[in-house]
Amino acid sequence: MILILRAQIPPEELDQALVQIGCIIGLPLPPLVKMEERYMLALDAAHVDEEAFKSLAGLPAIERVIPTKRPYKLVSRELKSEPTVVMVGDGITSNVTLIGGIEAPTIIAGPCAVESREQLFATALAVKKAGAHILRGGAFKPRTSPYQFQGLGVEGLALLAEAREQTGLPIVTEVMEPDMVEVVAGYADMLQIGARNMQNYPLLTACGRQQRPVMLKRGLSATVNEWLLAAEYIVAAGNPNVVLCERGIRSYDPQTRNVLDLTVVPLLRELTHLPVIVDPSHATGKSTLVPAMARASIAVGGDGIMVEVHSHPEEALCDGQQAITPHQLSEIIRNIRAMVSLSFEEGKDVTHGYDAIYPHFIVR
Ligand code: PEP
Ligand code: MN
Repeated sequence: MILILRAQIPPEELDQALVQIGCIIGLPLPPLVKMEERYMLALDAAHVDEEAFKSLAGLPAIERVIPTKRPYKLVSRELKSEPTVVMVGDGITSNVTLIGGIEAPTIIAGPCAVESREQLFATALAVKKAGAHILRGGAFKPRTSPYQFQGLGVEGLALLAEAREQTGLPIVTEVMEPDMVEVVAGYADMLQIGARNMQNYPLLTACGRQQRPVMLKRGLSATVNEWLLAAEYIVAAGNPNVVLCERGIRSYDPQTRNVLDLTVVPLLRELTHLPVIVDPSHATGKSTLVPAMARASIAVGGDGIMVEVHSHPEEALCDGQQAITPHQLSEIIRNIRAMVSLSFEEGKDVTHGYDAIYPHFIVR
């Protein structure tokens, strides 16, 4: 269940209310979270019997009790029926773009890994020209083999910041360990938690304790509940700006790298208010399959896509077989614009229609 405290509650009353709630529950309280001007506390229903429920609901500091039985609470639709809109970029060092709650899908594109200034800049300028809104690129790479290219580390972060300066695109990049969260957040506009780290709870909590939005990729074989509970860790630690990214799940058939689970997009709409984007690159592992699955991701209602793009895919140090070219990206974006505009502005000029429904995209 979720206890929603009164808006603008004075600090002394808040302290008093926490003592009262603690006495009623008889267990240490979880972290207090502030979302949209209100403090709230999420409790496991198993710890609250009928009598305790009545006492809690009767406390003067409590405005409302939302009785959810779902294991995840703060990310659930029961808490909030309107979609969460996540803002990426600060409008000073980069453009501002939004993910979620708007009709126009957000396009995140860039190389798997930052390899060199030339490679990053060539790709960054090309994805910007193609119409991408956010630049991706890994500086710290979680590679299956210790002998594969591991990324440029902090040097890669500095190159990403330079690419943002050049293009105006906000950047998203992966952070792999709690101790590096502050460093990566010093450069990135959005932090990425990779599939392999979806259940790294100290990392989730560290990302929840800082201000940058977080893109949480689905674990290699994570259930939807496990994934939403991982998101709950970030929100419960104080950061409501979480974007979920479906990137395919493990299966038995080696024909594709993973199986793209598109069912989760409409399913997550029912379960959570968080935005959902889709990564068809890691899901398929094959550049030839990316355009169709990118279109499909939008058709099922995704709030955006994240795709790997390389100016010369055959030379990529990481994931080259799934990288598309900037030309292929512009085709994908043209198709997505057409799909979205057609569904909203039938018969009108396609490009104009898309821009008209993207009023929140603020250029610095
Ligand atoms: C990536 O986005 O480059 C990446 C490593 O993805 P995932 O964590 O989904 O494998
Ligand atoms: Mn990759």
